[in-house]
Formats: sequence, structure tokens, C-alpha cells
Amino acid sequence: MIKIESLLKTYGSLEAVKGISFEVNEGEITGFLGPNGAGKSTTLKIIAGFNKATSGKVFVNNTDIESAPELIKEQIGYLSELNPLYSEMTIYEYLRFICQIRNIEGEEFKEKLKLVTRKCGLHGRLNQQISTLSKGFKQRVGLAQAIIHDPPILILDEPTNGLDPNQIVEIRSLIQELGKDKTIILSSHILQEIQAICDKIIIIHNGLIVADSPAKKLLNSYQNKQSIRIEFTKISVTEEELIRHFPKMVIQEFSIKENSILLVCETTASKDTRIDLSKYITNKGATIIGLKYQQKTLEDVFHNLTLGDIITQEVNGGDE
Ligand code: ATP
Repeated sequence: MIKIESLLKTYGSLEAVKGISFEVNEGEITGFLGPNGAGKSTTLKIIAGFNKATSGKVFVNNTDIESAPELIKEQIGYLSELNPLYSEMTIYEYLRFICQIRNIEGEEFKEKLKLVTRKCGLHGRLNQQISTLSKGFKQRVGLAQAIIHDPPILILDEPTNGLDPNQIVEIRSLIQELGKDKTIILSSHILQEIQAICDKIIIIHNGLIVADSPAKKLLNSYQNKQSIRIEFTKISVTEEELIRHFPKMVIQEFSIKENSILLVCETTASKDTRIDLSKYITNKGATIIGLKYQQKTLEDVFHNLTLGDIITQEVNGGDE
């Protein structure tokens, strides 16, 4: 539905987005994840038609957005990171103003207003001045202006930024509800957010795409992936025996030393394999003399891709 081709955006000598390409599938919620300054907002502004690319193309349903800006405006709803609202207006006045810009008047305006009031939970608030609304309600109004013309595509730049935990849950479920009949690109630097609601995850770092995958695939391939390095006193055990007993284990090193055995392995078992492995080995009469354990989560992947940092939990000696 949306195709980005070799998108480049420079600000003076800074390459904020370095020739990235990706696709967004119809009807999916795509999470655009990256640390501060990665290039998320720059990319989203270009897709929404609020900024011009230095080079590269954005296609919506095979139409180049540069060649049909008016058509694309109908197709896209955009909530910017700053959610600029006219705080002296009431919600009603603001939404009417947004509709006037979009030439939505009369009966059509009444219908659309009714619909967004229901979808965004604005009942009983339409005559309230925007400056007196909580941050969560302001985000609801921001979402209402983004969807009032009923676009099939929604671009939401950090929609839960600055909200309290309750408001985050509210806005997240609202986005999920909207995602039932819209294609959504949602940016965030909060991993849990993306994990909770997105079908697809794209990670951007320093203006480059470092991961682009269906969310489930990315989660399955990394979540619960455990890496174990265990050394124990010499006993009679073979690699084949260990694999038979722990079928999800992939052995990376099995070396028999003078008085000990070193096993380095990875497993995707849902349980903590350290415990079962320790039990198995000690039941065979060995004493554990070293254990290093690392559990990879999507968070590690994110850190790894954007910082090169992995959290390691190390347990030395002892016989857990
Ligand atoms: P954040 O999560 O902090 O919003 P982001 O991933 O959205 O970050 P961008 O806002 O796209 O990142 O910024 C990418 C880079 O481009 C940053 O180094 C930023 O300082 C720079 N940048 C963005 N807008 C401009 C601008 N108008 N002029 C100059 N530099 C800019």
C-alpha cells in the first residue's frame, strides 16, 4: 500500500535519512521504532506530505505522492509529534475548522463529527476549551483531526509520548480500534508499545533501516532465546545425549578438558533452561564450576541494533 524507495533527506550537511526503502502493507499496524534522532519524524513527515525529500520516492497505492498531493491528502491522516492544537478553541470549533480546510461542510460535517466523537471518546467534551483538556484528551483530539476525513492511512508520530500510564493504555487501545479498518504507521522509541500493538516492526537507526520484519517473526526469533555457557566437573556425558534430552538446544561448543567439561549452547525453550540443565548435570554426579547466562529479548535486539549493547547476567561458580 505504501512503498518508500531510496528516501534521502538532508538538513545542510546532516543526512537525517540515508536512502531508506521499505513497504507498509494494507490493513496492518506498522511500528517505526528507533532511538531519539534516528530519523523517524523526518520520514513520517515526508510520507504525510508535510516535508519534501531530498531524493527518493513515496508511493501510495502506486501513485507517487509528489505527482498527486491533493489525492494523497485525502488518503492520509497525520498526527505529528507535537500535536499542534489551537488551545483557545473548543474541541467542536477546532474540528469544524479542520473540516472547513478540507471542504467538509453541512450535513457531511455533522456526520463526520458524530463518528469521530464516538471513535475517539469525545462525548460530552465538544464544548470544552482545548487548553483545559488533559494531555490524554488532547491526543484524542489530535487523533480525531487525523481521522475526521476518514483516510485509509494513518501516520502517528509518537502518539503516546508524554502520557501517563493510564492514558497510554487508553490511546493504545484507541489506535488498535482504529487499526481494524485502517493502515497505520506508528512511531515510537518505546519498544513495549510497538511490541503490544504492531503487526510489523521497522527499526531505524542513524537514518538507516536496521530491521524490517513481521512483529511475530522478530519476537519469536529473539524472545526467550537463551545463551548458556556452563562448565562442570568431568562426567560421562556426550553431545548427542544432551541434544536428545534438550531438543531445542543448539550446541556451539562442547569441549572435554582435563578435569572439566565446557558446554556453550543456545536454546529457544520457553522455560529457563539453566535450571533443567543444572539438574540434569548434577544428577549425573557433576559439580557446576561456572555458569554464564544471557537471555535475549526484543529489547536486547533493539539495543544491539542501535547501541551494540547486550545485557548479560553472569553467575560464577556455585551449584545452582
Ligand atoms: P525523536 O525520537 O527524538 O523525535 P526522530 O527519530 O524522530 O527523533 P528526527 O526528528 O527525524 O528523529 O531527526 C533526525 C535528525 O535530523 C536529528 O539529528 C535531528 O536533529 C535532525 N533534524 C530534524 N529536523 C531538522 C530540521 N528541520 N533542521 C535540521 N535538522 C533537523
